Amino acid sequence: MTEGIKVVIAGPRGRMGREAVKMVTNQEHLQLVGVIDRQDNGRALSDIDPQFREVKCQVYTSIHECLMEQRPDCLIDLTVPEAAFYHAKTAMELNVRPVVGTTGITLQELEELKAIANHKKIGCIIAPNFAIGAVLMMKFSQMAAKYFQNVEIIELHHDQKLDAPSGTAIKTAEMIHEVREPKTQGHPNETEKLQGARGANFHGMHIHSVRLPGLIAHQQVLFGEKGETLTIRHDSYDRESFMTGVKVAVETVMKLNGYVYGLENILD
Ligand code: NAP
Repeated sequence: MTEGIKVVIAGPRGRMGREAVKMVTNQEHLQLVGVIDRQDNGRALSDIDPQFREVKCQVYTSIHECLMEQRPDCLIDLTVPEAAFYHAKTAMELNVRPVVGTTGITLQELEELKAIANHKKIGCIIAPNFAIGAVLMMKFSQMAAKYFQNVEIIELHHDQKLDAPSGTAIKTAEMIHEVREPKTQGHPNETEKLQGARGANFHGMHIHSVRLPGLIAHQQVLFGEKGETLTIRHDSYDRESFMTGVKVAVETVMKLNGYVYGLENILD
C-alpha cells in the first residue's frame, strides 16, 4: 500500500464517520491509521464493525494516545461539537491538521481554533457542509442577494440532528449578510401568534428549521421582490454526497498554513 496522507477519523460509528471510513480506505493516496471512538479502546475497527472487515486499524478512546502513537497527518472529525472542539485543538497542539465537519461549534471556540491555526501556521479546515452542490447553493445565494434584499432560508434535516439552525443555514446567512443591504423583513407590525412562527432572525433574515425522519440534508433559499421569487435549493439524498468535499479538504489541509472556514474557500 502507498503511504500517502495518514488519516485518523473521530466518530467512525456515526453516519458520517462510516462514510468517511469508506472514502478514506478507498483512496490510494490516503491511509487510515486509527479511529477515535467513545468505546472499544484497543480493538481493531474490523472487529467492531462487520462493514469494515478489511480495516484493521486500531480504535482509541483517547485522542492524545491515538495521535501520539499513530502520528497521523490529518484528523477528520465527525462527532459532536464538544468533542470536535477538543479534538481539533488537541490535534493542532500535536501538529496534526484537523478537517472538521461536525457542526454546532460555538463562535468563540471557532475563534480559538482560528487563532491556534494561524499562530502555529498549521492547516485547519472547518466545513459545515462538504457537499459541493451545497457550496454552490451558498455561492449562488450570495450572488442573488446583491439584487434581492428579501430572503428567507428554510433548512430541512433528519430528526436526529442536534443543532438548529444548521451550520449551512448560518453560513448561508452570513454570506448573504456580507452583500445584502441590512433590512428588517416582513410587516413592521407583524406579531407571532405562536412563538417561533417566523423562525430565527439573523440581521432581519428569517431562518426556519424543519426536522423529519426520512430527510438527510436539504436547504432552500427563497428570494422575493415585487412580482417575482427566486428559489435556490440543494438536496443531499445520501451522506456519500459529502465525501468528495471531505477528500478535497484532506488534500487541501496538507497545503494550508492557517485556518479556513467553509469549503467554498478552498474550491476554485
Ligand atoms: P451521528 O451518526 O450521531 O455520529 C456521531 C458519532 O460521534 C457517534 O458515533 C458518536 O458516538 C460519536 N462521538 C460522540 N462523542 C464522541 C467522542 N468524544 N469521541 C469520539 N466519537 C464521539 O452523527 P452524524 O450524522 O454522523 O453527524 C456527525 C456530525 O457531522 C454532526 O455534527 C453533523 O451535524 C455533522 N454533519 C456535517 C456534514 C458536513 O457536510 N459538514 C454533513 C452531515 C452531518 P456515540 O454513539 O457513542 O454517541
